[in-house]
Amino acid sequence: MDWSTFTLDHLLARATHGIEFEIFRYLLGTMSVFVVIWLGLSHALRYRKIRKPTPRARQIRSELFWSAMTVLVFVGMDILIFDAAELGIFQTYDDVSKYGWAWFFTSILVMLIAHDTWFYWAHRFMHLPRFYKLFHMRHHRSHNPTPFTAYSFAPLEAVVEYAFVPVGLMIIPIHETGFYIVMMIMIFKNAFAHCGYELMPKSWARLPVLGWLTSVTHHDMHHERASGNYGFYFTWWDRWMGTEHRNYLERFETAGDWARRTQADVKPETALVPAE
Ligand SMILES: [Zn+2]
Ligand SMILES: [Zn+2]
Repeated sequence: MDWSTFTLDHLLARATHGIEFEIFRYLLGTMSVFVVIWLGLSHALRYRKIRKPTPRARQIRSELFWSAMTVLVFVGMDILIFDAAELGIFQTYDDVSKYGWAWFFTSILVMLIAHDTWFYWAHRFMHLPRFYKLFHMRHHRSHNPTPFTAYSFAPLEAVVEYAFVPVGLMIIPIHETGFYIVMMIMIFKNAFAHCGYELMPKSWARLPVLGWLTSVTHHDMHHERASGNYGFYFTWWDRWMGTEHRNYLERFETAGDWARRTQADVKPETALVPAE
C-alpha cells in the first residue's frame, strides 16, 4: 500500500463508505423484520408467538443505542478491512470466470458454514464466566428478544463478531458479490432469530436436512436460559457438543400453543378478540 495516500480525506472516504454500508445493512435487516413480522404479520402469527409478554419500548430504545455502538465498531473495522484489501491479503475476486459459477454459489455456503463455526465457538467463549460480563452480558440483557436485539452488543462483543470477516476473507476465495450476499444473509438471519415468532411449520425441525437449520425457537431458548443452543445458522455444533436443549424439538413444535390455549379459555362472545 502507498502510505502517502493515507490522508484525512482518505480516512473520511473510507468511514463514509463504512457508515453507509453498515447503517444500510442494519436498518434493512432489522426494520424489514420488524415491519413485516411485528407490524404486518403479528396477528397471522399469533399462535406461533413464542412468549406471551411483548418486550417494552424501553428495551427497544436500549437495543437501538447499543446497536448504534456496534455499527460504529463495525465502521472502524471496515476502515481497516478496506485498507487490508488493498494489501492483497484477501482471497476476494471480481471476475466470476476465475472460479466459475459453481464455486460462486458453493463459496457462499462455505462462508456460512465457516461463520457458523466461528460463531458457535466464539459464543461459547463469551459465555465463560470470566468473559461473560465484559463481552456478552449486554446481549443477554434482552431476555425476551426483539428484531433489534440483533446488534445489541457490548463493543468488545462487536469486535469478536466482526473478526470473522477478515479471517473468512483470508481463507476462503469468494466473489465480491458473493461476500455481499453473505453479509446480507447474516443480518437477516440475525434479525429473524430474535423476532419472537416461530416462522417454520411444526414438522420442520424433525425433517432431514431442513432440521439442521436453526429456528427462531432455537435462539429464543438461548435468550430465555442464557445457555445452550449456541449455534447461529446450523444445529450441528450444538448436537455434536451436546449443548442443544433437550426439549428443543418439543418447544419448537409447541411454540405459541399458550396463545391457542388462552383463546380456548375465552368465552364465545369475546372469542373474536385476539388473544394478545
Ligand atoms: Zn441473541
Ligand atoms: Zn449467548
